[in-house]
Parts: sequence; structure tokens; C-alpha cells
Amino acid sequence: MRSILTQVIGDPSLTYKRLDGYDNANYLVETEGDKLIVKSYVYRAEQEAQVVAESDILDHLRAAGGDRYPRPIAFDDGSLVKQVEIEGTASLMRKLSFLDGTFLGDAEATPALYASLGAFLAEMDIALQETDSYVIRARQSPWDLQYLELNRRYIDDVVEASDRKVVQYFFDQYDHHVRPHYQDLRRQIIHNDANEWNVLVQDGKVSGIIDFGDVAHSFLISELAIAITYSIYDKDDPLDWAVIILKAYHEVLPLQEVEVDVLYYLIAARLCTSICNSAHAAIASPDNTYASVSEQHALRLLHKWVAINPRHASNTFRQAIGLEAPPVPSIDAAIARRHEHVSASLSLSYKLPIHMVGGAFQYMYGADGATFLDAYNNIPHVGHCHPTVTSAAYEQMLHLNTNTRYVYDQLADYADHLLSKFTASLSKVFFVNSGSAASDLAIRLAKAHTGHNDIMVMELGYHGNTQTSIEISDYKFNNPKGEGQKDHIVKTPIPNTYNGRYTKDMDSPGVQYGRDAVAQVAGHGRPLAAFIAEPVVGCAGQVPLAPQYLQTVYPAIRAQGGLCISDEVQTGFGRLGDHFWGFEAHGVVPDIVVLGKPIANGHPMGAVVCTDEVARSFERGVEFFSSFGGNPVSCAIASAVLDVIETEDLQANAREVGHYYRELLRGLMTTYPCIGDVRGMGLFIGIEIVEPDSKKPDTNLASHIKNTLRERHILISTDGLHDNVIKSKPPLCFTKDNARQVVDAIEEVLRERTGN
Ligand code: PMP
Repeated sequence: MRSILTQVIGDPSLTYKRLDGYDNANYLVETEGDKLIVKSYVYRAEQEAQVVAESDILDHLRAAGGDRYPRPIAFDDGSLVKQVEIEGTASLMRKLSFLDGTFLGDAEATPALYASLGAFLAEMDIALQETDSYVIRARQSPWDLQYLELNRRYIDDVVEASDRKVVQYFFDQYDHHVRPHYQDLRRQIIHNDANEWNVLVQDGKVSGIIDFGDVAHSFLISELAIAITYSIYDKDDPLDWAVIILKAYHEVLPLQEVEVDVLYYLIAARLCTSICNSAHAAIASPDNTYASVSEQHALRLLHKWVAINPRHASNTFRQAIGLEAPPVPSIDAAIARRHEHVSASLSLSYKLPIHMVGGAFQYMYGADGATFLDAYNNIPHVGHCHPTVTSAAYEQMLHLNTNTRYVYDQLADYADHLLSKFTASLSKVFFVNSGSAASDLAIRLAKAHTGHNDIMVMELGYHGNTQTSIEISDYKFNNPKGEGQKDHIVKTPIPNTYNGRYTKDMDSPGVQYGRDAVAQVAGHGRPLAAFIAEPVVGCAGQVPLAPQYLQTVYPAIRAQGGLCISDEVQTGFGRLGDHFWGFEAHGVVPDIVVLGKPIANGHPMGAVVCTDEVARSFERGVEFFSSFGGNPVSCAIASAVLDVIETEDLQANAREVGHYYRELLRGLMTTYPCIGDVRGMGLFIGIEIVEPDSKKPDTNLASHIKNTLRERHILISTDGLHDNVIKSKPPLCFTKDNARQVVDAIEEVLRERTGN
């Protein structure tokens, strides 16, 4: 290299050092009394045109802003670019003046420094408004956000599915929130890469910027988005730092409303393009540690970014530049409007209900800008607005949705996939639109198969809102306002080993409960068509059926000609961690399984899975038809849900995080004896709140915890006969950090309440 450098610079005494360059080689060359940068590139005609265009831009900037920018230095023949051969490769070389200063990445972050970055960039962009270049306009660079597809195509190279989904989510959000504004966003020449290793600092202020290799004719706001992205990488409170840069920029070069409104998504998009690019580089050249380090940094910020409500980000950015944030809609008015035509019989959660406007994975976004950690909702099983699910829905809706009396592949594909999760005897499925419809159909199937009418149900069980499902739901019919127990219903005591008749400290409490239930069956006087129960009884306060209970009861039900139904609406699809279905935890195989809620991540769907014999008996009766049950869109969505459970290994996550979560909660029990019991499996957890040193329910304290956590933006609920059991059953992407956040918040409430 020395000989080439000597030849192009003409000083045999020069010394040089190779510098890191992203995709070209750069050298810091020192000659007597001078320092300069020499850049070399593999020869390409476009590269040459690009370098010339870049040099013109630099000349223009130098005229406006002096030595803040590198000065292109001509070779002896007056040319700015020289063709040379480097190790047999046709190459291009150019010379630039050296700028003094420390890199922003090495300087201490202070508000003054970040403000100077904003002002600096704005001054540069004002100067750049007077330049233009057809060469630059024609270039489609993968680092130009308007061409983000060029990096997006590498998304499959992102190794972890749990990372990939967030990247996909933000690309989709970009399509929705930024792309429609392409024609409204100001475009001009921008530097397009104000990262911490391109920005120079002197005396605590930004003094210069180098590397115009990514210069683009693109959205003006991208300049700021990119600078902010790199400046907030490692910050705990990224929005606070972002605002400093934004404000200072705006004071020099006023921004437009549409520009600040897309800023949140542009920052995310920059992170996503960088992640995809690094993921691809890591595969293309596995020893490129730089790529994987930068990918990890960007991912960390992206996971933090998704926990920021976009409304909050947009309002914060707006306020920073003196624009009004849109008014927060009044919750009272919103409730009044709802109740104008929707019956108040459908109650709202919390003393102060929440107006929700969005969600992403385990977070929900309130209308007031708050982000809620969702530790409660099990319906968005794989996470709110999961991009695999939303795109499956959209794609299918683009092609076909129809009633279920035509042949279409989605139904058979999904039935295959779903039934592959069951043991061979459960080989038939009926699709409906809710858990209630599924429970209702399950009872019809049992009656049709057995010719009997009576049903044994679980104390405090809940199976749905149809007439039949209310009749089998003690939680409803036994409510003070309920219809009471019908004659054909046999209610059996819940095998609760915490505070029931037989407890954990006794010998085989599940068998004892089971024997009592068997005696009830025998004493009923009429044969039962079915016994229906949830493996963990949700509305009872997350009470797992005692071990060996179902093993004791199922044979007795069958012996008298009845069927066994497991309601897996709450417990199915891997939520319990160790098992995909709740009945597996009890070592039994039901004849009929009821599915709902998580099956399609919130899209209304339910299913009944049963044995071939049960299905055949039903076929002898009147025909079954459901207009929507199992339509192509529902099946496409439900298939996507199963795919995500598998690719993100969510069952294992439920097991691991659930275990960790319960251990943390159990850790509170000695200091706070008001926590009487911590129970459940996987991410299906109940925390029973009692009066200390007794098992008496403390409904008020449970309610206090629930409502205080709501104020602290954590969603949980309460349930059980006395409404004193805290329920947590979050989306399965819940992390250990999320679990810790909930437990810390509960501890704080208890500490404040008890003074312990
Ligand atoms: N079964 C169980 C165990 C449930 O928890 C529910 C709903 N909470 C249902 C059935 C009814 O499902 P849906 O509300 O979808 O009709």
C-alpha cells in the first residue's frame, strides 16, 4: 500500500494507518506537516460519479461552513478521483482533509453536546438545501430509508424469532404510518449517516462531520431520525435525549408537523434496517464481530422502543417543537358514548377504566399515551398485533373468505396442524366462533353420543355465555343474580387443595375429592351425558384441579356411559408450560376438548375436538353448520398462531418465565403473609390474597393491588368466589424482566399498605 500511497501523494516519507471503513478502505496519511485521509474503492463507474458528486457537495458545504466538513483535495493533475490498481484490482482513490476532534461516541453525553448536534445538523441541512445532484438522486442506497426494502429483504437472517417479530412489526408499522406520507415529507440532499463515529466533538460541542459516503436525496427528517437513533442507543431514557436533539434542530431549521409525526417510526425503521443488514453480514462473513455487536445494540433499543406508546413519543416530539399534542379524549365521555347504545351489563375493568388505542406484544397503549404492561390478557396469546398473525389475516382477506360450504385448503391444513397437537384418539374437529359456542356444541355432541341429558359440572366453573353454557357454569348460574341450578345439572366440589375440604398436607387429596365426585355420580340416579371441567379453574381463582382427581373421576363417568370434556379455552396452546394441553398435566385423555380464546389470538374462533366415534354419533342427527366457523381467514390466522407458538418456542418460554414468576411471588410470602397461596402452571398464575395467618379472603386488598397496579400501568385482574385471587395470564412472549416488574410493583403496594 505504501508504494501506491507514495505514488498518489508524492511524498516518500509519509506514514499511514488503515482506518475502519464500512465497505471501503480508508487511510490516515501523515506527510511532513500535514494529515489527510485517503479513501480507496473498488472501481465502478457509478462509484466514480458518486465520489465526484459527493466532492461537489463537500465543496459547497465548505463554502458555507468552513472546516466543519472534509475538503476534497485534488491530485496533481487537478482530478478529484484517480484510478489505480491495488493488488491487481482496478480501484479508485481520493483525498480529503483531516478534521480534528473526538468522536461523539467517545465523548461524554451531555445535554449541551446533544443540543449542539441538533443545531449542527440543522445548519448543515440548511446549507445542503442549496445543492442537488442527479447522481445522488438516482442512487438507491440500502441506507436510505425510502429504500428500506433493500435491507428488509434480509429479515430472515435475524436469528432469534423473538427479535425478528419486533423487526417485522416495525417494518409493518412503517408501511402504515410513514409510506402514506412519502409525498408529504420534504426531500433534499442529506448526510444520511450522522452516527457517533462520523460526528466530531471539540470543547463539548459538535465541531464537524465526516464520511459523506451515504449522502442521499431523501427525507429531511431522516437526517434527524438517524442521528437520534445512534445517540440514544445506550440511554435508559431515550426519549429525553431524543428531544434535546430535536428541539435544537428545530430552533435552527423548523420542522413540519408531518415530519415529527413519523419520527418515532423512522427511528424504529433505521434500527430495523441496521439489524437486517448486520444479520446478513453476520451470515455472509461469520467473523465480522462488528456486525453482531451493532445488531445487539440495535436490538436492545428496538425492544425498548416497542415499550414506548407511539402516541407518547409523538406527543413528546410535538411538544418539543411547540406543537400542541392532540387532546386526550375524556374517559367519561368515551364511557358515556359506549353506554349510549351498548348495555352496561358488559362491565369495564377497573375503578378507572382504560381507553386503549393500540398494542404490541406484551404491551398495550392507552389513549393518554401510557404504556401498559399486559400481565393479564391471555387472548393475544402470541402477543398483541403479532405481525405473523396480522399478515396472515390480511393476506387471506386479500384472496378468499367464504362460508364454509366450499372446499378450500386452509380448513384441512389447519385441522391437520391442530390435530397433530393431540393424541391420535382425538381426531375430529368442529369450528365455531367462540369458546361459548364450542362449549355449547360440546354438550350437544355428548348428548347426541350418549342419549343422556344430565351433566356434571365443576363448582365455580365457567364455560360461556350461551343458554347451555350458562347452565353448565356454576360461576354464572350460582351467582346471586343467576338463574340457579337446573335439574339436569350435578355440581361437584372443586378439588382445591389450598382451602377446600382436602388440602395439600393430607394424603392424596385429589383421590379423595375424586372419590366424593364418583359417589355423587353414583348417587345421582340418572346416567350422566358428560362431565365438563377446566384443568385449572380460572374463574375460581386459577385453581388447578388436584393431582389424580381427573384420573379418579374420568373412569367413573365413562363406566356409566358418559363422556369427559376438558375445557381448554384458558389453559390450552402451551400456556401451562410443561404441557400443550391442560388435561395432559392430569394424565388423562378426554373424549371432547373445548378450545377458544388463544386459538386465533383474538380473532373470534372456537373449536371442539373429539373422537371419531363422538363425531359419527353427531353425524346421525341434524346437520351441523356454522357460517363463519373455520372460514379461510380464521383458519389462516389460527395456523399463524400455531406457527408462532412453534417458531418462538412459546411453550418453553411459558414454562421458564412462569416458573421464575411464581418463584419471585413465593419469595414475597414470608414478608407478606397476606399472600396466602401462589399457584398455577406456566403463565397461568393465581395469587390468593387473604387476611394474614388465616385463609380468610381479603377482597379489599386484592382490589387495592389490582387498581394500584393499574395506576402504575400494569394490567392484572382478580377473580374467585370472593374476588380475592389475583390472576396473571399474560401473552406468552412475557419476559423475566416483565415478571420482575409485576412482582416489584406488587411488593411496593404491599410495603406501602403494611409498612413491612
Ligand atoms: N370456557 C372458558 C374456560 C372460558 O374462560 C371462557 C371465556 N372466559 C369460555 C369458555 C367462553 O369463551 P368466549 O368468551 O369466547 O365465548
